[in-house]
Amino acid sequence: MISVAVVGGGIAGLCAAFDLHKAGCDVTVYEASDRFGGKIHSSNVGNRVVDAGPDTFLARVPEGRQLCDDLGLGSELTSPAAPVPAYFHRDGKLYPLPKGTVLGVPTDLEALAESGLISPDGVARAAEDFDLPSTTVGDDISVGAYFRARLGDEVTDRLIDPMIGGINASDIDRLSLRSSSPMLWEVATSNRSVIKGLRQARGGVGATLGSAGANEPVFYGLPGGIYRIVERLVEELQGATLHLNSPIEELGMIEADHIIVDTPAPVAAKILEPVSPNAASLLAEIEYASVAQVTVEFRESAVDPALDASGILFPRIDGNIITASTWFSTKWSHYKGEDGTVLIRLTSGRFGDTRAMTLDDETLLSRLVSDLRQVVQIDEDPLNTRVVRWVDALPQYVPGHSARVDAIFEAVGKDAPTIHLVGAAYRGIGLPVCIGGGREAAARIVD
Ligand SMILES: Cc1cc2nc3c(=O)[nH]c(=O)nc-3n(C[C@H](O)[C@H](O)[C@H](O)COP(=O)(O)OP(=O)(O)OC[C@H]3O[C@@H](n4cnc5c(N)ncnc54)[C@H](O)[C@@H]3O)c2cc1C
Repeated sequence: MISVAVVGGGIAGLCAAFDLHKAGCDVTVYEASDRFGGKIHSSNVGNRVVDAGPDTFLARVPEGRQLCDDLGLGSELTSPAAPVPAYFHRDGKLYPLPKGTVLGVPTDLEALAESGLISPDGVARAAEDFDLPSTTVGDDISVGAYFRARLGDEVTDRLIDPMIGGINASDIDRLSLRSSSPMLWEVATSNRSVIKGLRQARGGVGATLGSAGANEPVFYGLPGGIYRIVERLVEELQGATLHLNSPIEELGMIEADHIIVDTPAPVAAKILEPVSPNAASLLAEIEYASVAQVTVEFRESAVDPALDASGILFPRIDGNIITASTWFSTKWSHYKGEDGTVLIRLTSGRFGDTRAMTLDDETLLSRLVSDLRQVVQIDEDPLNTRVVRWVDALPQYVPGHSARVDAIFEAVGKDAPTIHLVGAAYRGIGLPVCIGGGREAAARIVD
């Protein structure tokens, strides 16, 4: 029987453990903290159990849905119920996501002009994309550099930054296009005009990811919270050996034929140092951003206007401490309050902006609510509040990240072929990619 140790009980490690256990391997999971799931977590806000980390995952990348099907949760998945996909904040006003926008990139310039979010000069600058010569992207380029060249600063700062920069908690001017947004990278490397390329890739204007009226689900959520996936995985691991409160500091602590490492990169660097110093030094260079998520419950009547969207995105350029306000009880029917209350999540923190990490809970809450009050009138104090700080939680993919990861995997394959690295540090931070990475590692070991 093959023995496998899994270091780190985040989603990638648990998925690897799940498949290996099913395949009859002798599996032991070592988790440093007092619970499994890593960044996936939920807890009570008032009387509702609410996601404290991810609340959703992309439908387009099939591994998330597949895992839920395998765990018997697939039929429960839901999609956002909000009538408006999202608003963007500018100068104290809210603008709905312009129709035809893909990850913040406009493909319908008429709709962009009508939205009012971008000035006529900004729209005209974006239209230059049709005629400008190709932008040299080389092996990689930052999201900011590419879109500033193609569409201009205004569209980049007001649409692309809040979307792609927000998802990755990044500074888009040092965020790899290739690694953070593979679909956009493909378009950028095979087309001169990004707008035309995106239209082609998504089947025409209007039929685009994230646009109003797209037919296929873009995101999935799970009633009861994404954490239920972790609970089901742990249930399925009955018979395997699961250790909580068991940080692994060095490989000598473990005896197994194979070791799967699902920890943040700095921890993986430390563990690998004795066996693959080359991989360790590359891993140690991967930086992380911290974010805070403050969830507040208000009486519905205290909030005006009525919340009719998934939430509001706030661009970095305005200097607000808030980066996004997610209207949970509108976005997800499963968070809709039966008792006349609404749930709002306020997010703060990006690479290079650590203000949320230094403020105490009360000050952070009041700063975030004050930012939100620029566009939403809130007359009362919240009924319930939850503050969660995720320190060094989101790996930052700088240009060249993909080549760095290739080099890390090559070094580990050569120096320590029975060690397998999985998780968000490598090929994507989204849940489906982390799930896929864990399951691929398991399949390699079983093969
Ligand atoms: C606030 C937030 C919101 C997010 N929202 C979304 C979203 O909506 N959709 C989406 O797709 N993605 C989202 N993500 C990203 C996604 O949640 C993460 O990328 C993913 O969960 C990471 O999984 P992982 O398996 O790489 O490891 P992690 O979740 O980082 O787990 C690693 C585990 O390793 C453990 N560990 C660390 N050191 C040791 C050690 N020495 N020994 C043993 N164990 C150790 C840790 O305690 C942890 O449990 C979000 C992330 C954050 C932080």
